[in-house]
Amino acid sequence: MNGQMMSAPLLISSLITHAARHSGDVPIVSRRIEGDIHRTTYSQLHDRARQMAHALGGLGVQAGQRVATLAWNGYRHLELYFAVSGSGAVLHTLNPRLHPDQLLYILDHAEDQVLFFDLTFLPLVEAVAGRCKTVRHFVAMIDKDKMPASKLPNLLCYEDLIAAQKPDFVWPTFDENTASSLCYTSGTTGNPKGVLYSHRSTMLHTYASVMPDAIGISSRDCVLPVVPMFHVNAWGLPYSCAMVGAKLVLPGPALDGKSLHELIATEQVSFAAGVPTIWLGMLQYVEQNSLSLAPLQRTIIGGSAVPPSMMRSFEDGYGIEVIHAWGMTEMSPLGTVCRLRQKHLADPLDVQHARLEKQGKAVFGVDMRIVDPQGADVAWDGKSQGDLLVRGPWVVQSYFGPDGAQPLVSDETGAQWFPTGDVATIDADGYMQITDRSKDVIKSGGEWIGSIDLENVAMAHPAVAMAAAIAIPHPKWDERPLLVVVRKPGTEVTREELIEHYKGKVASWWVPDDVVFVDAIPIGATGKMLKNKLREQFKDHRLP
Ligand code: ADP
Repeated sequence: MNGQMMSAPLLISSLITHAARHSGDVPIVSRRIEGDIHRTTYSQLHDRARQMAHALGGLGVQAGQRVATLAWNGYRHLELYFAVSGSGAVLHTLNPRLHPDQLLYILDHAEDQVLFFDLTFLPLVEAVAGRCKTVRHFVAMIDKDKMPASKLPNLLCYEDLIAAQKPDFVWPTFDENTASSLCYTSGTTGNPKGVLYSHRSTMLHTYASVMPDAIGISSRDCVLPVVPMFHVNAWGLPYSCAMVGAKLVLPGPALDGKSLHELIATEQVSFAAGVPTIWLGMLQYVEQNSLSLAPLQRTIIGGSAVPPSMMRSFEDGYGIEVIHAWGMTEMSPLGTVCRLRQKHLADPLDVQHARLEKQGKAVFGVDMRIVDPQGADVAWDGKSQGDLLVRGPWVVQSYFGPDGAQPLVSDETGAQWFPTGDVATIDADGYMQITDRSKDVIKSGGEWIGSIDLENVAMAHPAVAMAAAIAIPHPKWDERPLLVVVRKPGTEVTREELIEHYKGKVASWWVPDDVVFVDAIPIGATGKMLKNKLREQFKDHRLP
C-alpha cells in the first residue's frame, strides 16, 4: 500500500522559487570582471533566471542538452545554475584551469550546445572555438558596452539575451531523476570523466549539507564560496544558500588575500568555504598586515587535507572555527564533515584538536566502509587502514557518455559501492581520516607511510610554506619518502633541520630519507598538489 501524500518531484527550480518568495530581499553580492561590486537579490535573480530560461529556448536549447559555462563565481553564473537546470537542460561547468586540449576533449565529449564565458576566458574560448564540434552559440557574460571585438562566430551578449525576454517563464515539472548538471573530474590519470548529477541527487545533497552537523548554514549567515562554481558546483553552496535564504558573496576572479579580506570585512561574511591553498594566501596577507578577520566565524575547508598548522592559525590567531570536510566530484561532493559529538566536548583540548583534524563523520545519506585488498572489512579502530568505499543517493553510478565506465564494486550481499581511491582509517566513533590517495601512498617494507601525515608535520615548521611527501623507488624497502619543500619567503631552513623536526612526531621509519627545496610545487586545476608531476620530476633522485 502506498502512502497518501503528494508526490512532488525534487527539482532545482524550487530552490530559487522558494528563495525569491521567502527571502526575496536577501542580497547577492558579486565582484565583477567589470571591476565593480554588483548587488542583486534572490527576487531579482529569480526574474533574470526566468528571462534567461526563455532565452535558452530561443537559442534552441532542448531538454537534456548540455549548456557549458567557463566562469568565475558571480551572479550571472548563479542565474545560469537555475535557468539551465530549471528549464530541463544540463548545466556543464567547465574548469578554466584545464589545458585547452583537455577542455576541447570535454566540450566535444559533453556535446555542449552553447558556451557562456567570462571575458577573462575569451583567449581560451578563441583558442578552442574553431575546433569544437557541437557548440552553436558563444555568449559573453558581460555588460553590453564592454562587449569585446572578437572573431568568434555567433558571439552574443548575455545582457542582450536577458533584455529581450520577460520574466514570466514557468518552470516545467518533470521526473526528479532528470539530469541537472555535469562536472568532469580533473583527469590527473587519463581523460577527464563526466559526473552527471540529477535534480534528485542535488536536492537530497542540499538538504543534507545545510544540517548543523554538516555544512550547517542558515538564513543568519553571509556565505563566501571561494571554492569555484566550476568545481563540483561550489560544493553545492549556490543551492544550499538558496534553500535557507543565506546572503551570498561571490568573489569573481579576485582570489588573492587582499581582495578576499576586503569582501569579508565589508560584507560581514560569517562563513567561508575553500581549499587549503586559497587560505594559505589569505592567512599570509592578514598576518603580514596585522589585520583581523573579525566578522568571519566559521570556514569549511576540504579538497585536500587541512594542515593542522592552518587550523591553529585560524582558531588561535583569529577565533575562527575550521570545519574539515571530505568529498569528491563523484559525491556531489559531500562525504564527511568533522564536528565534535557531545561526549567529545569533555576531552582535553589537544584531544579535541586531534579529532578535528580528521576528515570526519559520514553525513546522513552517505554510507562508508574500509576494506583490505581482498575486499574484507577493516576494523574501525582508528589505526587499521583500508580502501575507502562509499554509497548513497548522491554518489556516482556510472560516468557520463557512451564510453562511461561503471566504477562500482559489489560486496558479498550484492550491494554496490564506489571505490574512492582514498586510503583511510575509521575510529570506533565513526570518524574517518584519510591517510592518502591510493596512488600517492608510500609503501616501505610492505607497510604504508601516510604522505598527508608527513606533510602536516613539515607544514608545522615556521619556515615551510608548502610541502609534499612522495615515494622514491628504493632497492631494499621498495619505496622511501622524499620531502619536497617550498620555503616561506625570507626564511632559512636546512635539510638536516627538517629531518630533525620529525623526531618524536612520527615513527622513526616514517621520517623522510631526504629533503629537496623547490621554488614551487605544481598545483592542479582543483587546487591540489600534483604529486604525479613531482614523482616524474624526481624519479631519478638518489636518496642518501
Ligand atoms: P579531482 O578532480 O582532483 O579528483 P575532487 O575534488 O573530486 O577532484 O577530488 C577528490 C579527492 O580529493 C578525494 O578523493 C581525496 O583524495 C581528496 N580530498 C578531498 N577532500 C579531502 C580532505 N579533506 N582531506 C584529504 N583529501 C581530500
